[in-house]
Amino acid sequence: MLTYRNFIDGQWVESISSRTINNVNPANTDDVLGVVRQATRDEARAAVDAAQAAFRDWKTTAAPTRGRIVNLAARLMEDHKEELAQLLTREEGKTIAESRGELQRSINVAEFCAGESRRMNGETIQSELPSNFAYTIKQPLGVVACITPWNFPVAIPIWKIAPALVAGNTVVFKPASLTPATAVRIVEIFEEAGIPKGVLNLVLGSGSDVGDEILNHPAVKAISFTGSTETGIRLYEQVSRRGARVQCEMGGKNPVVVLEDADLELAVESTAQGAFGSSGQRCTATSRVIILDQVADEFVARLATRAKSMRIGSGADPTTEMGPSVDEGQFNTVLKYIDIAREDGAELVCGGARASGDGLDKGYFVQPTLFDHVTPEMRIAREEVFGPVLSVLRVKDFDEAIQTANDSDFGLSSSIFSNDAVRIFRFVDEIETGMTHINSPTTGGEAHIPFGGIKATGIGDREQGSTALDFYTELKVVYVDYTGRKREGNLY
Ligand code: NAP
Repeated sequence: MLTYRNFIDGQWVESISSRTINNVNPANTDDVLGVVRQATRDEARAAVDAAQAAFRDWKTTAAPTRGRIVNLAARLMEDHKEELAQLLTREEGKTIAESRGELQRSINVAEFCAGESRRMNGETIQSELPSNFAYTIKQPLGVVACITPWNFPVAIPIWKIAPALVAGNTVVFKPASLTPATAVRIVEIFEEAGIPKGVLNLVLGSGSDVGDEILNHPAVKAISFTGSTETGIRLYEQVSRRGARVQCEMGGKNPVVVLEDADLELAVESTAQGAFGSSGQRCTATSRVIILDQVADEFVARLATRAKSMRIGSGADPTTEMGPSVDEGQFNTVLKYIDIAREDGAELVCGGARASGDGLDKGYFVQPTLFDHVTPEMRIAREEVFGPVLSVLRVKDFDEAIQTANDSDFGLSSSIFSNDAVRIFRFVDEIETGMTHINSPTTGGEAHIPFGGIKATGIGDREQGSTALDFYTELKVVYVDYTGRKREGNLY
């Protein structure tokens, strides 16, 4: 059985820990990919120490040279795209088409960040004094920790590691415990691309143990975290207390608003894609439909037909449309929320149970589930489920639709289906989410476009696009006086 190893100071080293967990295929629990030895706190400290020791040389390596390594990693990911996509599907469960999409997004992000290495520009600023000016430079922070979830186990690490490295930081990468295999392959690719020793380190271990050790290490200057709001807020409180920089991208409860003039076919197909794609395990997954009364019956009927037609199965089968939940814990959480919704009085339209038979019994499959007549105070309308469960909330008019959409602690993504430009742009102005879509699903993003949420979803700088490097750099201001004389004006 393959045992995954940590990567510390340029060496693959097996943990001395006796605590192990199996890496299991969620579509077939007989299929064990490998074993993780849960790293110790000492090993986590060794990774931080290695990153700290490597910082000086990496910081003084020219940015385009750093970018070249990241670009080479992108090329290697492209060469290994199919192998990585197959591994991702086997480890996390998403369909092979979704895995290929995630790989392409990762390649695009790495390419984009590599390009940014030639644009790490500051600005030149005129002074109010003669023969004076100021300019700004961007400098790296030092050791950065990247703590990532299991749902995009390739793309999310890449969209943190690539900008961190390009900016001149050294990295300690702590992936989710459920996805060690893809994490190891990412680091192997950077190793093959020529990353110097100590610049990128990998620690496989539990969040509450090695994650906690990394957060509290004084040499770790910044933590970029993606995961649940519960963990993120706790982490933010802990880290900000010692003055380190934190970026948290967390949960969502993303609404789709459907107006009476919408193209219903498009709205139904896009909602199904947003709600059931990746088995609902996307931070941007659609989990609430807010629909005007007059078209609600027809929309619900069509959406139920679409949900019942979804082909559920192993993601490795190219005809599969929806894979399993990632593990037993997540599977039980989804079923628990289905029970809660029923008890709270939501009307089950379809789904609502484990999907079984036809080779599904050894996996964590849940039927695409639709609840109608959900009201805003129900838990199913307020809490993130992270499974293929969708709630329909009926409203009387556009104003109530916006108010209901904004009645959420979260603020990641949203979308509106309508052909009325006036109401579409009112929605854009008033919706409280970091990203919004017009006549398309709540999901999706591109490498060169900023990504992230507001309210309980996001803390700190946006990731990706023109903002990708913001979190990973400090701005230094330089004042230049070439008068050769004592300053006479501007004495404040
Ligand atoms: P999670 O349980 O919060 O874990 C995320 C990461 O944090 C994992 O690596 C985890 O390690 C680690 N961790 C847990 N406790 C920790 C602690 N005390 N100190 C340091 N690290 C700790 O989230 P998840 O279940 O993996 O991911 C699903 C969540 O991510 C959903 O809420 C989803 O919405 C969110 N998400 C958000 C975005 C976004 O951009 N907004 C994108 C994707 C996913 P272990 O695995 O070892 O516990």
